[in-house]
Amino acid sequence: MKTFKIHRPKTVEQATGLLPSRRGPAEIDEARPMAGGQDLLTEMKSYLVQPESVVDLGAVAELEEYEVGASLRLGALTTLARIASDTEIGARWTALAEAAASVASPQIRTQATLGGNLCQRPRCWYFRHEDAVCIKKGGSECFAESGLSKYNAILGGGPSYIVHPSDCATALVCLDAEVTRSTKRGERTQPLEEFFTLPSEGSVMRENVLKADELLLKIEVPALPEGWKSTYLKFKERASYDFALCAVALSAKLEGGKIEDARLVLGAVAPIPWRARAAEEFLAGKQSTPEVWEKAGELAMEEAEPLADNAFKVPLAQGLIQKAFKSLTDGGAK
Ligand SMILES: Cc1cc2nc3c(=O)[nH]c(=O)nc-3n(C[C@H](O)[C@H](O)[C@H](O)COP(=O)(O)OP(=O)(O)OC[C@H]3O[C@@H](n4cnc5c(N)ncnc54)[C@H](O)[C@@H]3O)c2cc1C
Repeated sequence: MKTFKIHRPKTVEQATGLLPSRRGPAEIDEARPMAGGQDLLTEMKSYLVQPESVVDLGAVAELEEYEVGASLRLGALTTLARIASDTEIGARWTALAEAAASVASPQIRTQATLGGNLCQRPRCWYFRHEDAVCIKKGGSECFAESGLSKYNAILGGGPSYIVHPSDCATALVCLDAEVTRSTKRGERTQPLEEFFTLPSEGSVMRENVLKADELLLKIEVPALPEGWKSTYLKFKERASYDFALCAVALSAKLEGGKIEDARLVLGAVAPIPWRARAAEEFLAGKQSTPEVWEKAGELAMEEAEPLADNAFKVPLAQGLIQKAFKSLTDGGAK
């Protein structure tokens, strides 16, 4: 790892003042914000980024908000361990607690923050390889498109086929969360769904709207309306800890065997948390039966365009969708 300076600002203003005002073409050597360091330090160890300085956010008290009230307000520095172990979050925003609990290992979750989880960089092995100059690092092609694509996107891909690695992002988009970030003109709040960008929108080198000198400040999750429940299901290759091969976040109002309304978001199948809107529209007002869950899975995967090695994600996502409905119908037991 390259030697770097470390700054320990105490306010958001001091922190953003230390960050570069815009990104250079190579994006590798500019100052970077660091929260728990669980992703940034691995990027630095593999020379994916080689910042001259790191801006440690650990002492910025403004990022520590934690309020479990009518809505849920979580500062960027909230650790995933705290979210996963909060029984009230588990009862009221179940999908988020389940997603946080599914991230990495207990040790990593005590360091890992929500802000870092949402801003972490993709895990595509071409992107992570220091010698592979893929399209996300200023090259001209996505090597997964013609290369090894087992872990890549089946929806929303092109010109890059990364999948978004964050478990919490999938759950929070499902729970209709809002994100607040710092900007030059003050704070800006927007739906989290609009924070993430497809490679064909925005910059192919980025996964979200954050500018180089902006920070994610906090997340706010509204209370689920009366009668709604949520769950997060993650399929991973390695049982102990791993990134998702496919994940499903579902929130729904089920009453008298009927699905009044539902929100369905898929993880690890697209470069952003993927709203399955056609399935959501179909589900509203239907009886909650295995046939309906199956049809919802078909609609969710209608636009899938698998690469050479990842067609297995289609039945995997469909199976997880059915399992998520069964879990909510059975009262949350998995
Ligand atoms: C072995 C291992 C397994 C993992 N498994 C999973 C998994 O299963 N699921 C999953 O979702 N993740 C996983 N991760 C990825 C990641 O470490 C965690 O998700 C963690 O939450 C990152 O948080 P952090 O605070 O350590 O982020 P950091 O490493 O500090 O930061 C991550 C990125 O976000 C930026 N950043 C951090 N905070 C802010 C902020 N407030 N504003 C703007 N930018 C910010 C940093 O500059 C950096 O680019 C894993 C990591 C490891 C090493």
